[in-house]
Amino acid sequence: MTSDRSRKNLWRPYTQMRLAPPPLEAVATRGSRIVLADGRELVDGIASWWTAVHGYNHPHIARAVADQLARMPHVMFGGLTHAPAERLAARLAALLPGDLDHVFFTDSGSVAVEVALKMAAQMWLNRGVSGRTRVLAFRGGYHGDTMGAMSVCDPEEGMHRRFGAYLPSQVFCDLPRSQAETEALDAALAAHRETLAAVIVEPLVQGAGGMILHPPEVLATIARLARRHGLPLIADEIFTGFGRTGSLFACQQAGIVPDIMCLSKALTGGTMALAATVARTEVFEAFWSEDPAAALMHGPTFMANPLACAAANASLDLFDSEPRLDQAGAIARRLTEGLAELKGLPGIADIRVLGAIGAVQFTAAPDLAALKAAFLARDVWVRPFGDIVYLTPALTIPEADLDRLIAALVAVIPGQAAALS
Ligand SMILES: *Cc1c(COP(=O)(O)O)cnc(C)c1O
Repeated sequence: MTSDRSRKNLWRPYTQMRLAPPPLEAVATRGSRIVLADGRELVDGIASWWTAVHGYNHPHIARAVADQLARMPHVMFGGLTHAPAERLAARLAALLPGDLDHVFFTDSGSVAVEVALKMAAQMWLNRGVSGRTRVLAFRGGYHGDTMGAMSVCDPEEGMHRRFGAYLPSQVFCDLPRSQAETEALDAALAAHRETLAAVIVEPLVQGAGGMILHPPEVLATIARLARRHGLPLIADEIFTGFGRTGSLFACQQAGIVPDIMCLSKALTGGTMALAATVARTEVFEAFWSEDPAAALMHGPTFMANPLACAAANASLDLFDSEPRLDQAGAIARRLTEGLAELKGLPGIADIRVLGAIGAVQFTAAPDLAALKAAFLARDVWVRPFGDIVYLTPALTIPEADLDRLIAALVAVIPGQAAALS
């Protein structure tokens, strides 16, 4: 059953409302399945935009949220604090590399990025340096949908073209994969040094930009060059954080400690909206002052919502008590084996796997509507975009469900790919 009434009042994400088929109505979730109103059960290949790392409805998280709901669903964070936030901040600081110890909570990934950009810009002002407000970002990147975040997304994206007059102008470079690109990055950093506040990167994977991978050495090069030019590095781990790439945080694979890190998506195990911008001590110290105006000027209404913090604490418990990183490794092996069947077929440009991320890239944009329909016919929830089909399942996905997802890709993709070539 589809939900046509949803056209009347609901405005849907990234959707041409006039053309899009009506959305499917979900009535329940469990494990790695989404239950539809007509009783069908879809195997979820996306984990709800990469959030539900422990699968849906994990009883430990549900219990923690229910307990917190009974005690205190929300209280303002100005002038007040509470145990769920205190505990979560301390645990994140302990898990994150280096002295990433200062946690600023917000309620979405985009806002965590806004706070990171603001933090970097104000850090310079607080140090008495003016004119440093721009950010160096990488082509292919995605950092969110709010204005500041949009300004550091790939500049060729439609949103940039449309909102060009509205967005701050940033500096864009290619990821430094080659010697020439490394030199170009170094030169751009030198040329724009006086106006730059920070460098921002999605470590190891540019997610929404097309699941584009880069090796840890490239990330290490970015960190080294940012340091050489005295610029803070912002690592946007909103997609990569919490096991997705096979390590708890992607930065760990390069052995780097960014100056500011953004977290969201899987932070609450897919339960509630929550995000964090985490700063190293040197950044935090730029705000530590006798001057009230040197305070970080941000504070969302639902900052550090206790329910969301309770969910996040419960999610971290599960990373402690259950073998999530091993599960990510097992998913990587199964994806590598399973998707290899598609390698070299006409119309297929590339197959990529990192941790619990598998992506198949076509040589050109495929018929997305036909692909989506074919996946749905196999009762799997897979959402191709641009020229890729990808899987980012729950880290807890049962083997049989993962095999069903892979089998669906292997069955559906060759026909669609052949039509391109
Ligand atoms: C999803 C995402 C964001 C934006 O997060 P929202 O919660 O959707 O605002 C930012 N950066 C990256 C890398 C993301 O994947």
